[in-house]
Amino acid sequence: MVSIPLSFFASIGGASRAGVLVKGSNYLEALSQVTCMVFDKTGTLTKGVFEVQEVIPAGDAGDGSAPGEGSMSGQELLEYAALAESASTHPISECLRRACGLQPDLGRVKDITETGGHGVTALVDGKKVAAGNRKMMDKLGIACGRGPEEDGTMVYVAVDGRYAGCIRIADSLKESSAEAMAALRRIGVKKLVMLTGDNPAAADRIGQSLGMDSVLSELLPGDKVEKVEALLSEMPGKEKLAFAGDGINDAPVLGRADVGIAMGAMGSDAAIEAADIVLMHDDPMQIVTAIRIAKKCMRIVYENIVFAIGVKLLCLLLGALGIANMWLAIFADVGVLVIAVLNAIRALRV
Ligand code: ADP
Ligand code: MG
Repeated sequence: MVSIPLSFFASIGGASRAGVLVKGSNYLEALSQVTCMVFDKTGTLTKGVFEVQEVIPAGDAGDGSAPGEGSMSGQELLEYAALAESASTHPISECLRRACGLQPDLGRVKDITETGGHGVTALVDGKKVAAGNRKMMDKLGIACGRGPEEDGTMVYVAVDGRYAGCIRIADSLKESSAEAMAALRRIGVKKLVMLTGDNPAAADRIGQSLGMDSVLSELLPGDKVEKVEALLSEMPGKEKLAFAGDGINDAPVLGRADVGIAMGAMGSDAAIEAADIVLMHDDPMQIVTAIRIAKKCMRIVYENIVFAIGVKLLCLLLGALGIANMWLAIFADVGVLVIAVLNAIRALRV
């Protein structure tokens, strides 16, 4: 029976050589039973590296408002947004700072507040600036022009309680995301779900291109937990649900799923802490590798149990019939052990 822990250790070793950190042997069993795979979008299926596509100051946004007195230039708009975002680690904020080309000048920014799934507010040069999605503008009671949402993620900016314009940014899919979704289906995952805080148009476009079964958008971190709990309650029998995320706004979900998988390179410390499995290269194909390793490990464990007990029962029977000799007894004991250990070591190879 020494071969059982050995199979788990060998699998964990094999996984870590493949860049997948498994925090405990119990997660291998759960992972081998995963039939529902839930993904966060930004940073998990997409690269999480946004690029500014368009800066649309109020008046140019097609919202009917004329560029009246006090309306600002695109560069000014970008600067307000980038300064307000100067303390955030969200991929969106990094992209705004990069596009603006401005070194964060914390002397100009005060009172920064970041709300998960919404955006940020801050005092920039004494002006109250808010930068975030439509939900955030609704929360602040600011009417904003309709941006071309289907073409990407929109960051709406308000200055002193007035809509100042929007910035259209776009993220691209990771090269291996589509391949990983197809491979997951081949190894027995029946349901692929994407959860995101982004707008429905951008979310559906990505969900469709990956062939997801279900796409749930405009979710706050708390909503993501609720959706995962609802999915968990629908799981039949021994089937398990795994959630993969980068931990930005989704660390609570990583803890709630049967198996939480964190993107190790771009993920936050909270995600790495909350997750059961950490992917060192943020590559969705590594999830496929992890499930394959888990399935192989469990197959080896059951093979060894059936083989060891089977041979011993056979020898007992032969002994009772008076056919068994000493050599057979030695084989049933030491021989079976050696074969089972050699079989367990196979788990080292991914
Ligand atoms: P996802 O679920 O796709 O990983 P998040 O939950 O991190 O996305 O964020 C959801 C949405 O909230 C983003 O698409 C963006 O519109 C808005 N948002 C979150 N943080 C920020 C921020 N720092 N600046 C601007 N917008 C933000
Ligand atoms: Mg995210």
